Amino acid sequence: TSIKLVRNIPSGSPTLKDFKVESVDAPTKSSLQPNQVLIRTLYLSCDPYFRGRLSGTRDSYVASFEPGKPIEGLGVGVVEASTSSKLSEGDLVTGGAFLWETRFVCADSAVTKVPSNTGISPANYLGVLGMPSFTAYVGLVSLCNPKAGETVLVSAASGAVGQMVVQLAKARGLRVVGAAGSDDKVDFIKSLGADVAFNYKTCGDLQDAVKKAAPEGIDIYFDNVGGEFLDVALKNMRPFGRIAACGMISQYNATPETAYQLKNIVNIVPKKVSIFGYIVTDYYSKPDYKKFIDEVSTKLKEGKVNYKLDEVVGLENAPQALLDLFEGKNFGKRVVKITDS
Ligand code: NDP
Repeated sequence: TSIKLVRNIPSGSPTLKDFKVESVDAPTKSSLQPNQVLIRTLYLSCDPYFRGRLSGTRDSYVASFEPGKPIEGLGVGVVEASTSSKLSEGDLVTGGAFLWETRFVCADSAVTKVPSNTGISPANYLGVLGMPSFTAYVGLVSLCNPKAGETVLVSAASGAVGQMVVQLAKARGLRVVGAAGSDDKVDFIKSLGADVAFNYKTCGDLQDAVKKAAPEGIDIYFDNVGGEFLDVALKNMRPFGRIAACGMISQYNATPETAYQLKNIVNIVPKKVSIFGYIVTDYYSKPDYKKFIDEVSTKLKEGKVNYKLDEVVGLENAPQALLDLFEGKNFGKRVVKITDS
């Protein structure tokens, strides 16, 4: 099975009709060129940045998907056949160019071997030990210089990135305020140690809710959503506040007519706020990556980190699994399970 994009979608909301589920012949061992591997896909990652890749424009930081070609993204799988000296049959591998296919062929350089038989689900390489978690680390730790006693506000706090921000911040002695779009998500954020958490869909006026949760103001805002949330955060920043501009999912499907216009941007000046826009892929080659892996893998072994995966089963369900992200229908890191092993 293969999932292909039907057309580019410059703005507005993608729908299931924009994806085609196709039966294709599985690649065979005999079709491998030198230094290639045939991979059996175990899990694929659904990520909000895909929205930029569906758009057909070149202003996204990753190239757009091409209509008629399979979707590609982060994944984890098992090497079924190899002509590479670096990878052998049975190796567990991860990488950012997994095709949305049950089996596919790629260059050995496109994937990295990861430990297998560790007792943890391979899906963790897409979550707690993967890109979203590192994104949390870079935004909070590398860029915002958090200090014990400070207050951090986290939007989409139960999501793939947000749940790790909450835990990294608590581990550093911050006061954590988390927001999410359902009561179950709010309970989960509290279970991770957040000092205050609220449902932004039912809280009434967002400014009142943030003011109540952080009466003294916000030192760090970890922005996953943009739009009105960012605007309210800007209004409540303390002097020398920092904003990790991680993502703005509330705006990804916006059209020029519906895009949110910020009203409180002027506060940046008197409050001397720093805003850090960043893309996580720039940080894998920096010392931050090793520090992140050391901290989180140690905590994982000690049972001191809790990371929620949200599995959808079956490649044919991957398009809906992706679209769900933009409606908050995921709860935790959304992955698509193709097969267990
Ligand atoms: P999540 O797992 O948090 O899923 C997305 C969540 O966003 C939804 O569950 C929903 O949560 C919330 N959401 C969706 N639509 C809206 C909306 N209109 N308004 C407010 N909230 C909304 O996703 P990730 O953790 O993977 O990603 C979080 C953010 O981080 C995204 O903006 C993403 O683009 C960004 N990102 C940036 C990276 C970088 O390198 N800078 C790397 C990875 C991610 P709820 O129910 O709580 O509303």
